[in-house]
Amino acid sequence: MRVGFVGLGAMGVGMARNLHKKGMLRAVWNRTSGKAAALAAELGVAAPATLGELASQVDVVVSCVSADADVLEVTRGLAQGFKPGALLLDCSTVSSETARTAAELLQPRGVEFLDCPVSGGVEGARDATLAIMVGGDPAAFERAKPVLEALGRTIAHFGPVGSGEAAKATNQIMCAGIIDAVAEAMAFARAQGLPLPVLIDTLGKGAGSSWYFVHRAPNMARGTYPAGFRVRLHEKDLRICHDMAARFGVQLPVVERMLAEYAELVARGYGDEDISATFRLKEELFERTNIMGAPALRPPPPGAP
Ligand code: NAP
Repeated sequence: MRVGFVGLGAMGVGMARNLHKKGMLRAVWNRTSGKAAALAAELGVAAPATLGELASQVDVVVSCVSADADVLEVTRGLAQGFKPGALLLDCSTVSSETARTAAELLQPRGVEFLDCPVSGGVEGARDATLAIMVGGDPAAFERAKPVLEALGRTIAHFGPVGSGEAAKATNQIMCAGIIDAVAEAMAFARAQGLPLPVLIDTLGKGAGSSWYFVHRAPNMARGTYPAGFRVRLHEKDLRICHDMAARFGVQLPVVERMLAEYAELVARGYGDEDISATFRLKEELFERTNIMGAPALRPPPPGAP
C-alpha cells in the first residue's frame, strides 16, 4: 500500500511519521512547501510540487487540514491526479456535508472518499493512539484499515460518508460541556479557598472526574493554558455542531453557551490558548459582572451572618 500524506500541521506531522514507521509513506505535500521538503528529506520520501502529482504516485492519500473549505480545495487538487480505485482518507474535523461534497467530487473518477476524523490530540497523533471515526463505503473501509491501524488504536465504522464527522461532532459537544463544568467547578473551589492540588488529586478519582478534569484542571490551578486543544479550533468544531443541529431546527444550550464563551476569549486574544482558558471567564463570575450579564457574586464580608 503506497500512501501519500497532505497537511503537515500539529496533527499531520506525527501521523505521517507513523505511516513511515509502518513502511507505507511514499510522499508528503504541505501548503507551506518548506515543511514538506524538510520532512521528505528526513524520511527519504518524495515531496511532489502539486497535489495532483502526489495523488498520481500513491494508492491512498491521508489528509489532515484545518477546515471545510480547505478539505474541498485539497480534494479538488488531488482529483487532478488520482487513478481509479484510489482512496482518500480525510482526518480533518469538518461537517458531514463537506465530507459528502468531497465524496461527490471524487465519485466520477472512481475514487472512494472516507471521512476519518480523529480524537486524541497531538499526543495521540504522535503515539499512534488516536480514536478514528469513519464514514463511507464498507469495502473501502476494509481496504483502508491497514493505513488507519498505523495511525490509531480505536477504529470504528459508523455508516455512510459523513457519519464519521457526525460521531466526531458528538465528541466535540461532550468536550464543550465537560470543560465548561470543570472550569466552573474549579472557580467555585478557588472561591471557597480549597487547596486546589489536593482537590484535583482527590476528585480526580471520584465519580465527577473526567480526562479534562485530571489533565486540564491543573492548568486552571496554575493559571497557564499552553496550547493543547486551541480555543479557536474547538470554536470551529462547535460552529459545525451548531449548523448540524440547526438543520433539525434545534439550538443546543451547551454548544451555544460555549460558542459565546469562546467568542469572548478570542476577542480578548486568548484564541490560541488551550480550551481550559475558559477558567478565565469562570473566575470572573466571582469577581464582577460576567459576560452573560448575570449580577456579580461576591463572597460575604468577614463576620457576616
Ligand atoms: P494545524 O496545526 O493548524 O495544521 C493545519 C494544516 O492544514 C497545515 O499543514 C496547513 O498548511 C494545512 N492547511 C490549512 N489550510 C489548507 C489549505 N487550504 N490547503 C492546503 N493545506 C491547508 O492544525 P492541526 O491541529 O494539525 O489540526 C488539523 C485538523 O485536525 C483540524 O481539522 C483539527 O480540528 C483536527 N484535530 C486537531 C486536534 C488537535 O488537538 N490539534 C485533535 C483532533 C482533531 P500550512 O502549513 O501551509 O499552514
